[in-house]
Amino acid sequence: MGQLAPSVKGLAIRRPLVVSDPGVAACGLLERVTDPLRAVGVECAVFDRVEGNPTEASVYPGVEIYRGQQCDGIVALGGGSAIDAAKAIRLKTTHDLPLEDYDDLKNGGDLITFNGPPLVAIPTTAGTGSEVGRSTVITLKATGRKTVIFSPHLLPNIAIADPEITFGLPPHLTAATGMDALTHNLEAYLALGYHPMCDAIALKGVELVHRNLPLAVRDGRNLEARTGMMAAAIMGAVAFQKGLGTVHSLAHPLSTVAGMHHGLTNAILLPHVMRFNLSAAGKRLADLAVALGVDTQGVAMDSAAQAAVAAIERLNTEIGIPARLRDAGVREEMILVMVPLAMEDGCRLLNPRPTSREDMEMLYRAAY
Ligand SMILES: [Zn+2]
Repeated sequence: MGQLAPSVKGLAIRRPLVVSDPGVAACGLLERVTDPLRAVGVECAVFDRVEGNPTEASVYPGVEIYRGQQCDGIVALGGGSAIDAAKAIRLKTTHDLPLEDYDDLKNGGDLITFNGPPLVAIPTTAGTGSEVGRSTVITLKATGRKTVIFSPHLLPNIAIADPEITFGLPPHLTAATGMDALTHNLEAYLALGYHPMCDAIALKGVELVHRNLPLAVRDGRNLEARTGMMAAAIMGAVAFQKGLGTVHSLAHPLSTVAGMHHGLTNAILLPHVMRFNLSAAGKRLADLAVALGVDTQGVAMDSAAQAAVAAIERLNTEIGIPARLRDAGVREEMILVMVPLAMEDGCRLLNPRPTSREDMEMLYRAAY
């Protein structure tokens, strides 16, 4: 966090809006931002009401404070929700159209120009990697779903990834956000398309999660484990520039319809979608088994691929992830509401095995 004041000064921000959420504020982390800035003569305005799965209510009130307090830059402090909300607030300070007009599904990113205020992102979880990503995901009334807005101009100017700031993250959130990082790396590795650079980053990211997540869950103050997870989260977001897959398409409706934590949904769905992908991506799943610590010497490819699925199930059990969606507050009647939303979600298009409506329903039921 020693980089914060020089970063804010370097970007010539005189009055930053700190965007955060009530959980981060309650942990006393806001002061880790506002105190060092005050010490160098920079007074912050604060908007700390970002929701767990941000909607317009996490964006427009922040824009009002930004304008009312005559801010000239933004510091995002929190998990993916706070950083995504900050990106949308930044966009709305200079772009007048309603947020749904910037929807990636209709190439709304083309309407975004390079004139937003500077943004410093400080992740308090090792999960989404939104601090190094070009997109923001906001649930909008007009679209009725998690809406991706994608533009290079949304990328933060500076990301401060300080593993010590994640020391206080409780075990269940460490587990859930860590599984989001794992899913990003894993789905990126399986995603269709030729991108050896992303593939290499993704495999290493999976290895880092396998090695560090159980330790970070058990001992939150283990600096080596927290550092490994912070790196893995960033690597996941870099790797998924290649694409994601069906886990994320199934996961997004679980947040909008059932209010589930994004990382938790991914963790529960991941082994089911991997099993579904066995017939289309056996070789790549076998590579993932190696990254997940499975000894594949002399093991046939199919068996190695299946071992990767089993390794994820073991990891989930070890870090306390519930096995079924029904154990995480989902009701069976939600499944048919979520299937069309999952089909509308663009992430599935790069899944190694095409996913039909029937497949989506089958996967939800299997995970349920
Ligand atoms: Zn994710």
